[in-house]
Amino acid sequence: MNFTYTAAEHKAKKVLDECGLNDPTEEPLKKIIFGRKAFYEEVPLVGKEGEIVSVDNRSIITINSNIQFETKKRFAAAHELGHYEMHRHLKPIFSDTEEDLMNWYKAGPHEMEANEFAAEFLMPSELFHKECERKKFEPKVIEHLANRFQVSKTAAILKFVKRGNHPVFIMYCKDNKMKWWKKSDDFYHFCPYEYDAPPPTGSVAYEVFTKGKTYYGDESKQDIWKSDWFQMKNDDEPDSKFFEYCLHAKSYNYTISIIWEK
Ligand SMILES: [Zn+2]
Repeated sequence: MNFTYTAAEHKAKKVLDECGLNDPTEEPLKKIIFGRKAFYEEVPLVGKEGEIVSVDNRSIITINSNIQFETKKRFAAAHELGHYEMHRHLKPIFSDTEEDLMNWYKAGPHEMEANEFAAEFLMPSELFHKECERKKFEPKVIEHLANRFQVSKTAAILKFVKRGNHPVFIMYCKDNKMKWWKKSDDFYHFCPYEYDAPPPTGSVAYEVFTKGKTYYGDESKQDIWKSDWFQMKNDDEPDSKFFEYCLHAKSYNYTISIIWEK
């Protein structure tokens, strides 16, 4: 595959190369960070997931030891490594809340770059695409990718939009409000999205927020209609079946819905 890479993704590829790694799961991330001449520690932090402090050419990456999931710690650590590799000369301190790690588009260019770096570093595009090949898209594919690359399902979904093998649309909602969306280049339906409006009433995301419903296992793929999320081309376009897989992060009350055509 010939992918085009952003500057941050290029940097992640270069760092992996310089570490002699084809696959980032071959070495503990902590060891990689030490190898890049930064310090790494895990201590309890309040109100933030990770930070990096750089003084006199020394950088310390600190990750909140209270983070419950290893996959989340891993993403936070790779995000801080991104700040280290790209931004440590620009600003002495980067402090990251869970919101910074999720709100790619609102947190500013440095945060977006650090997230892009982390996503490429932990899930190299070529390997990621190979893992998807010849698999029909369904929630199990996301589970497989998350396990394979030791990342959260949310991180795997965000990468899938860009490097997966099936056109999908994703919507991120918090507290029953739509915050941002992303889609594959070859997903051709239009979502009449309005910032801070509730998700459409027919959507699974709406059900999660208003009825507290969460679907697991075989039920995680739910039938919906195209018109639930997307604009119909004209009045006589017949409605068609779509699927929605909605993940709910209860601690932070956000959902990420991945939507695709049947
Ligand atoms: Zn950051």
